[in-house]
Amino acid sequence: MRKPLIAGNWKMNKTVVQATELVEGLLEGVDQPQDREVLVCPPFTALHAVGQLVEGSPIMLGAQNLYPQDSGAYTGEVSSPMLLEVGCSYVILGHSERRGYFGEEDEFINQKIKAALGAGLKAILCVGESREQREAGQADRVVSGQVRSCLADLTPEDMAQVVIAYEPIWAIGTGLTAEPEDAQEMHASIRSLLSELFDEQVAGATRILYGGSVKPWNVDDLMAQPDIDGGLVGGASLEAESFLRIIHFISS
Ligand code: PEP
Repeated sequence: MRKPLIAGNWKMNKTVVQATELVEGLLEGVDQPQDREVLVCPPFTALHAVGQLVEGSPIMLGAQNLYPQDSGAYTGEVSSPMLLEVGCSYVILGHSERRGYFGEEDEFINQKIKAALGAGLKAILCVGESREQREAGQADRVVSGQVRSCLADLTPEDMAQVVIAYEPIWAIGTGLTAEPEDAQEMHASIRSLLSELFDEQVAGATRILYGGSVKPWNVDDLMAQPDIDGGLVGGASLEAESFLRIIHFISS
């Protein structure tokens, strides 16, 4: 049984004051959900403040990136031990904005996943195809290539700490959402790849989130798909009311 995870990726939004306000709103409205997990991923500057507020609550804390060394001369970077110290349990890795704007490639993302897991963080690996790749019929090939390369050398035990987020790039921040059936098809094919790369147990236990314009009005239909195990939510996680509605999606 895979417990759904609803994760909010705040990207480069919210000062400490704004982040505090948002998380207080979430804490007021969130149930003690037994059947799902809730995660917020603020920018680095707000992690400490948000971490203190969510401690002991049903909301977990995650970061949006890390550098795969514990410390050293890496100006501007942040390491796993730093994230753990402020209360993070998760880190998002390989987001398409990091791949697109900052040139991150699968091999580097693989190093980051290994660093995160080695330190005791759980990793949310993002994969997804562009519009051009989908239109050219390459979506499956692109996504399976990303999954293979980013998870290279991981063991089945490692995979217990990994969540995959399928995020078609054309659906991120655009208001365009994959049809639930199309997302389901890709999730099922990622799951079958996991059984080829690892084993049936890993394939059955790994959570695969959908990301790409998840909104209060489409979340229930997306979550009703058998291989969609939660959502990675950008824009709609920036307001307490909309994120609370997504957290409290109605499962069918
Ligand atoms: C994301 O940031 O990963 C994302 C899916 O954003 P949005 O929900 O705004 O499309």
